[in-house]
Amino acid sequence: MKNIYSNIYKATNNNLNKAKIVIEKGDVVAVPTETVYGLAANAYNNKAVKKIFALKKRPSHNPLIIHFKNIEQIKKETIINNNFLKLAKKFSPGPLTYVLKKKKNSKISKFANKGLSSIAVRIPNEKNILKLLNILKCPLAAPSANKSKSLSPTTAKHVADEFNGKVKMIIDGGACTIGIESTVIDLTAKPKILREGGLSSEIIEKFLKTKLSENKNKVIKSPGQIGLHYSPGMPIYMNRNKAIKDGALIAFANRSYSNKNVFNLSTKGNLKEAAKNFFNTLRVIKNKKFKSISVNKIPNKDLGKAINERLIRAAQYE
Ligand code: AMP
Ligand code: MG
Repeated sequence: MKNIYSNIYKATNNNLNKAKIVIEKGDVVAVPTETVYGLAANAYNNKAVKKIFALKKRPSHNPLIIHFKNIEQIKKETIINNNFLKLAKKFSPGPLTYVLKKKKNSKISKFANKGLSSIAVRIPNEKNILKLLNILKCPLAAPSANKSKSLSPTTAKHVADEFNGKVKMIIDGGACTIGIESTVIDLTAKPKILREGGLSSEIIEKFLKTKLSENKNKVIKSPGQIGLHYSPGMPIYMNRNKAIKDGALIAFANRSYSNKNVFNLSTKGNLKEAAKNFFNTLRVIKNKKFKSISVNKIPNKDLGKAINERLIRAAQYE
């Protein structure tokens, strides 16, 4: 049997050059980012972008985030504005994705943004994907490297486990330092958070000195807002202090649990640490074949908002 981990390549310059060739040929490569691992393809190439959707079994209405090397490259494809420039100078490269109007002459594949008049753009803050973007001539369309609805990967091994050899090349940049997806902010009108993520919306509000409007729009602007997502494939019960029979408990902060079915996201009660451990913890619990997950109350502030948003989606298990 083929070793599913043989497709994992250390992030050396030589292997990044190999990845460049694979991408230029129109194929998909799994890449590290500081948020979660991504399935990356040439954002200009329709066929390559379609391969991402096929691999992920991603519903066709979900547009992809396009990853860029710098602000200049973003300007070629989008109509930027002052809020973008302010935010990007402060927070990019980093875990913040901006939704901007697409330029009429943009070369981004219409399959990547699903024919919308906007594109979601991000400059990732991970040295290996940045090196790759810098040796490529194209930006990279890259959603999380997992099958649609399931847990996001935060190591190269998670990607291999998920795709069982179907992704030809996985670049290993180590464990993701942030561990949850980027925050998505819509800048096409009054700034609005579409998805909570690796940069807390409170930090953005403080920086912009404005209250960001809630996203009450029922139109799907971000897949993180609808239906089952981020799912470990078992029921999840939020705001609990005990596991139920055959279930696991995800704990947060310094609590005196000692049972084998308890997994603490951060004994110190640090929300950054909790976010970093979040997907891996769900994956460990899934692999240990527990039947359900109860979760301590996670404070709904800072990165706790992103964790809770994901738990609510994951809890829509039937
Ligand atoms: P994922 O790639 O699974 O992390 O998700 C990408 C996120 O970006 C989703 O929440 C998408 O809906 C969102 N997104 C991508 N393109 C757009 C766009 N043009 N307008 C609004 N949201 C977008
Ligand atoms: Mg995803």
